Amino acid sequence: MRWNEDFIEEVRVRNDILDVVSGYVRLKRNGGSYFGLCPFHNEKTPSFSVTPSKQMFYCFGCHRGGNVINFVMEYENYTFSEAVAHLAERVGMQVPENESTSAERAADYLKQRLLEIYKKTGQFYYRALHSPVGKKGYEYLRGRGLSDETINRFGLGFAPFLPKEQSLYAYLKKEGYTDEELKSSSLFKYNEKGVMDFFWNRVMFPIMNERNKVIAFGGRVMGDGEPKYLNSQETVVFEKSRTLYGLHEARRAREGYLLLCEGYMDVISLHQAGFNNSVAALGTAFNERHCMILRRYTNEVILTFDSDGAGQDAAKRAIPFLKDAGILIRVLDMKPYKDPDEFIKNLGADAFRERIKKAKNSFLFEIDMMRKAADLSDPAKKTQFEKSVATKLMEFSDELERNNYTEAVCREFSIDIGSMKRTIASMAAQGYKVPEQTKPVSHPSRSQREEEAREKALNAQKVLLTWISEKPSLYAKIEDLITAEDFTDPIYAKVAAEVFTQAKNGEVQPAQIMSRFTGETENANRIAELFNTKLEHAEGSDLVRAFEEVVRRVKEDGLNNLAKTATSVSVIQSIMKQRSRLAKWKCDTLE
Ligand SMILES: [Zn+2]
Repeated sequence: MRWNEDFIEEVRVRNDILDVVSGYVRLKRNGGSYFGLCPFHNEKTPSFSVTPSKQMFYCFGCHRGGNVINFVMEYENYTFSEAVAHLAERVGMQVPENESTSAERAADYLKQRLLEIYKKTGQFYYRALHSPVGKKGYEYLRGRGLSDETINRFGLGFAPFLPKEQSLYAYLKKEGYTDEELKSSSLFKYNEKGVMDFFWNRVMFPIMNERNKVIAFGGRVMGDGEPKYLNSQETVVFEKSRTLYGLHEARRAREGYLLLCEGYMDVISLHQAGFNNSVAALGTAFNERHCMILRRYTNEVILTFDSDGAGQDAAKRAIPFLKDAGILIRVLDMKPYKDPDEFIKNLGADAFRERIKKAKNSFLFEIDMMRKAADLSDPAKKTQFEKSVATKLMEFSDELERNNYTEAVCREFSIDIGSMKRTIASMAAQGYKVPEQTKPVSHPSRSQREEEAREKALNAQKVLLTWISEKPSLYAKIEDLITAEDFTDPIYAKVAAEVFTQAKNGEVQPAQIMSRFTGETENANRIAELFNTKLEHAEGSDLVRAFEEVVRRVKEDGLNNLAKTATSVSVIQSIMKQRSRLAKWKCDTLE
C-alpha cells in the first residue's frame, strides 16, 4: 500500500462511481445498473455496466471491470497512485505524503522524470530552431507556410548536429539526469562508441498527450536523408497506438466531428487554417485503439487522407475500424490537390470547408474505389461492377437503409435503379448471405476438454460469489459447507475469504474488496468478474435448484482439487467427511 488503507478507502467512497464514469461515458439506466458503450472495446450495443449498489463497473463484452479507481487507471492510463491522487483532488481532499513501496515509487518517479526530460528537450530544440544552428529548420517551416504563431503553438523545434559537449545529451546530464533515465527516454543511442543524440538534422515535432504533456518526438529530416519521418520509440509514457497527434487541441474543438489526416504537417496546417479539430495517427497504422480514443470525443470522423493511391488505400484500411466502433465516416475529396496543405494554399480555407460539407459517405467512397478499379467501357466488366455493387448493398440488413443506399449509389454512378433493385431481390430470393469469416473446424483435444472443465469450475465459483455478494443472507446456507479453500484459483480464494467475512456481517462491498487487490489491472478485471457473473434464465423454484447445483459444483471441484495433492491420512479423512456432508446438504429456499 502506498497510502494507508483508510485514505484510499475514503477517496473511493467519496467518488461515486456513477458520477465519475458519467463524466466519460453516456449511460442509460436499466434496472439497478446503468449501461453504455464500452470505452475499452469496440461495440455497437452497450455491454458496459455501472452498478451503483456495488460501486463497480463491468463490461460483459471484454470483461474489464473494477471500482472507481480501476476505472480511472484504465481510462486515463494512470498508475494506481496517479488515479488515487486524481480522484482525491476531484473531491477536494488533501493528498498525504505517498508511502508507496520503493518499486512503485521508482516507477512513478521515472515517469515524472521522463516528462521533465521531454519538456526540457522540447525547449532545447525550440531554442535551437531560433538560433543560427537551426536556421535551415526555421526556413523550412516558414517555407512550408507556417506562421511564427503556429510554430510556437505546436512547440516546433530543431535537432542540430552538435559537438559532443553541446549536445542534448550533455545538456540533460548537466541538468542532473542519470544515464538510466536518459536511456529510458529513447532520445539517445547507446552503443560501444558511446552515447549519441537519436535525432539530428531534423525539424522536431513534440508529441503531446491529451493532458498537454510532451511524451515523445517526431522529426522530419532536412534534405534527402532517410527516413524522412522518424518517431521516438515507445516508452513507459508513450504508446503509439493510443496517441493521436493534435488531440490535445482537437479535443476542445466543438465541431461535432474530427478530421483524421495522415501526418503532423497536415494537422498543423489544418490547425493554422482554423480547423483545430484535426488529428493524425503516428507512424503506425490506424487501429482499433485509436478508434476507442476518437470515440471519446466524437461520433463522426472525416477522413482527410492524401488523394494519391497510398492515401486512398490508407483510408480504405481505416474505414472498417471506424465502422466497428460505430463512428460515422465520411471521406473528403481534395482533388486536384494532394493533401490539405496544398489544397488550402491554392483554394483557401473556405473552399476546404465547402469540401467538408460535401464529403462523401464512406460507403459511396468504397463503391467509387471499386468503379475506378473496373473498366466500365467494357460491357462485361460493367455488369461485373454492378453485381459487386449489389453484393455490397446486401451488407445492409436493414431494408430501409439498404433502399436509401441503393438510391444514392444508383444516382451517383448512373446505374439503372430498377435493374439494381431486381438484382438485389433475386440475390435475396436465392438466399444470398453476406459471407462471414469461417473458422477451421476441429475436434476438441484432451487439453481443450480439460480447459473447458476448468472454465466450468471457475464459472461456478464466480456465480457463487456474485450471488452471495448480492444477497449476503445466503451465506448462512453454505457456511458449514463451503470455505475459501474450495476456490481453486488463488485470487478467487482470497476474494472469497473477504466476501464470506463481510457476508457474515450482513453486507458485502465489492468495490472495497477490490481496493485490497489494487495495482494490477489484470487482477482487477478478474476480480470484477467475480461480482458480475449471473446465471441466465433461472427463476422461482428453478433458482433454488440452480443455487444448489452451483454450490455442489464448487464444493466438488474444491474437494477433487484437494484430493489430487492429498497424501496425509488426516486430509484424506477430512475429504471423505466433507463428501458425505455434501451428499446430505440440501437447500429448500433462498429466503
Ligand atoms: Zn468492453
